Amino acid sequence: MLTTLEHASSFDAENISEEQAIADVKSAILNKMSLAVGKDAAYATDRDWFVACALAIRDRIAHRFLAGKRSSTSDGKKRVYYLSLEFLIGRQLTDVLSNMEMLDVFKHALGDLGVDYERVRNAEPDAALGNGGLGRLAACFMESMATLSIPAYGYGIRYENGLFRQAIKDGWQQEYPEDWLAFGTPWEFSRSDVIYDIKFGGSVETNRNDAGSMRFTWHPSEVVHAVAYDTPIVGWRGKHVNPLRLWAAHTMDPLRLELFNKGDHVGALSDQARVESISKVLYPSDETPAGQELRLRQEYFFVSASLQDLVNRHKRIFGDLYSLPDRAAIQLNDTHPAVAIPELMRILIDEHGLPWDEAWRITSNTFSYTNHTLLPEALETWPLPLFERLLPRHLQIIYFINSLHLEGVKAAFPNEPALLSSVSVIDEQGGRRLRMGQLAFIGSHTINGVSALHTDLMRATTFRDLHRVYPNRIQNKTNGITFRRWLHQSNPGLTGLLREVCGDEILDNPEAIHRLMEHADDASLQERISKVKHANKVALARLIADRTGVRVDPAALFDVQIKRIHEYKRQLLNLLETVALYDSIRANPTKDWVPRVKIFAGKAAASYVNAKLIIKLANDIARVVNGDPSVHNLLKVVFLPNYNVSLAESIIPAANLSEQISTAGMEASGTGNMKLALNGALTIGTIDGANIEIHDHVGSENIFIFGLTTPEVEDRRANGPSAQTSIANSPMLGQVLDAVGDGRYSPEDRGRFRPLVDGLRNNDRYMVTDDFDSYYAAQRRVDETWAKPDVWNRAAIANIANMAWFSSDRTISEYAEQIWKVPVG
Ligand SMILES: *Cc1c(COP(=O)(O)O)cnc(C)c1O
Repeated sequence: MLTTLEHASSFDAENISEEQAIADVKSAILNKMSLAVGKDAAYATDRDWFVACALAIRDRIAHRFLAGKRSSTSDGKKRVYYLSLEFLIGRQLTDVLSNMEMLDVFKHALGDLGVDYERVRNAEPDAALGNGGLGRLAACFMESMATLSIPAYGYGIRYENGLFRQAIKDGWQQEYPEDWLAFGTPWEFSRSDVIYDIKFGGSVETNRNDAGSMRFTWHPSEVVHAVAYDTPIVGWRGKHVNPLRLWAAHTMDPLRLELFNKGDHVGALSDQARVESISKVLYPSDETPAGQELRLRQEYFFVSASLQDLVNRHKRIFGDLYSLPDRAAIQLNDTHPAVAIPELMRILIDEHGLPWDEAWRITSNTFSYTNHTLLPEALETWPLPLFERLLPRHLQIIYFINSLHLEGVKAAFPNEPALLSSVSVIDEQGGRRLRMGQLAFIGSHTINGVSALHTDLMRATTFRDLHRVYPNRIQNKTNGITFRRWLHQSNPGLTGLLREVCGDEILDNPEAIHRLMEHADDASLQERISKVKHANKVALARLIADRTGVRVDPAALFDVQIKRIHEYKRQLLNLLETVALYDSIRANPTKDWVPRVKIFAGKAAASYVNAKLIIKLANDIARVVNGDPSVHNLLKVVFLPNYNVSLAESIIPAANLSEQISTAGMEASGTGNMKLALNGALTIGTIDGANIEIHDHVGSENIFIFGLTTPEVEDRRANGPSAQTSIANSPMLGQVLDAVGDGRYSPEDRGRFRPLVDGLRNNDRYMVTDDFDSYYAAQRRVDETWAKPDVWNRAAIANIANMAWFSSDRTISEYAEQIWKVPVG
């Protein structure tokens, strides 16, 4: 009997029995173990088993991969190219096996060999080629595009070191290099034949030809090689496989290098290190742009390789480049790949001899751009001198794009000269910089926000003037998550229950989960849902004990805030409420308090001082609270180190309460909020990002909403600092701030948290003090609801049942129909 995600038909199709399938897989694994890993099974480590399994399943994927490539080449289908500087993939083994409907067969085969699948699964390092939500979105989208059989390539960088590994030492974050590739990865195919020259620097020579038109020749001062590595991305039920093509930087071949350096070997080696640094490390920052030259080199490196690759492919299949917009849709995931716009212009004009107007028609009908943030400090800009030094030809092209664009604006809005400076690609204030958001907008046919609110704010704030000039370009595409990873794989207990109650159809059609609502009032279903959750909490409690030494009671309310540590996400608000709750419990220990475990996880950018101090505060509060016998087990605080996709997969199925408490107007969408609600956690959240749409889907009685709205936040900002008043009006908040500021949680360094507290008192940019009372009150509503298990469990059911719309299959279908114009399925 098959228990998890298996479907008997997968064997029927190949007309073999389950026993035969297991025997075949066993021999495939053993074969890989001896011939590819080079080990005797008797001495194999967990990692060896992982590699052998990955190679065994990869063989089966490869056939479909090649078949898919051949068919979409021959039928001339339009392709989607998803350009992203980040792909936060995590582990792939379970994803691949369950999408290939081979998970149970592999588990059985390994079991017969005396090997535990869980250990094999845990031996795979996370592919952490991203910081947070933006990178994880790219990974969910790749999986959904494959599931919907959309011919697509993901393009990015094959970072040798992904996002740093976080350790907590004495409560402080420490960063260690992450080395997922230290022993290679069995998933990828290296394509030593797919290599492109990437040029940097030098000068541009201008000539006039006989007909009088200009010709531009770029003489770069440096050439780097981009080498392709393909990882197959398998869609659900293995119907379709797409490549994720990641580029690695290599120096030119040693012979040419030697010529280059005229026998200077040391110079040649340092050159090599400099060149290869381009694909060495992911920039560890998601909310502020990296200003470094290396970052710009990374962006151009992967963009140029990807465009050369797709232009080549298009020419090979279709013969000319005029049909590019009909056969290719290029999606820019944020502005990081926006230099693709002048790069495509350069390729079309300088390398293929197209006239400017035709090149612009092709370019602006091929690109679309997703905006991910409106935080002013996060909008990417480049100093003109740096950009000109690295990409002189591209700067010329951008100037020309901009001047034509501004001429158009002048003609359409003759009486509004002020409009020009706001819609220009060049920021004339503050030292002449290139604004990549403006460039991406001007060069794209469609620009999308990632939630309804965020899209409205794009139209009303950052892109208000560009929206007036090009009023039909902005669309909304609310983010989504792949249910395969975030429900079926990470929460098999809940998935099994859903299949029983709603039918196997849920595996293919998330809307079928809505049938759960028919039983929302059944005590028996409520009981079963809560049993599944409890089992997941027992597993998480064990993980918490293993990793932090803290013992938590699985019967307590598990309250989780897991995401990048950032002031706008307001972990600090949660921590201040934790202190207030701790004080209230101690003041009134016999009251019927709801036992809670506050679980935090997340990384802070290494240079982000306040975020790192917030991590320290969480750990210092944890030490005091967990060590205080007077609160018994009513409150525990846990900071789980090294948040990544795998840790998220362990925490989310065990969560009761999902903290989504960003300052209104600052979280573009959020996707953690979707994962948690789908797994039956109730949200405590602000009216921000996709929380608003989650609220609309699950209903007001099944979510705890609090805090200022976006317009209220703007009003308060306009009226000057409001923290003094908020603190004066809230004795509880005043006490909490005094306690934290005076060192109650840091007796060995009483001034440690002064900067955080003074920051709130003097310049509370993120409205923590304004929202404190409302948040505290919402938390007490949480307590009241938890005290009525039938009400809580019914609400958990309503959350699970109403999240279908947040499947990334829905999001990708909308992109396909409304932006890319490619057929689905
Ligand atoms: C989903 C996810 C995120 C995004 O979380 P938000 O709460 O939306 O910020 C970040 N990191 C990981 C590992 C994730 O899985």
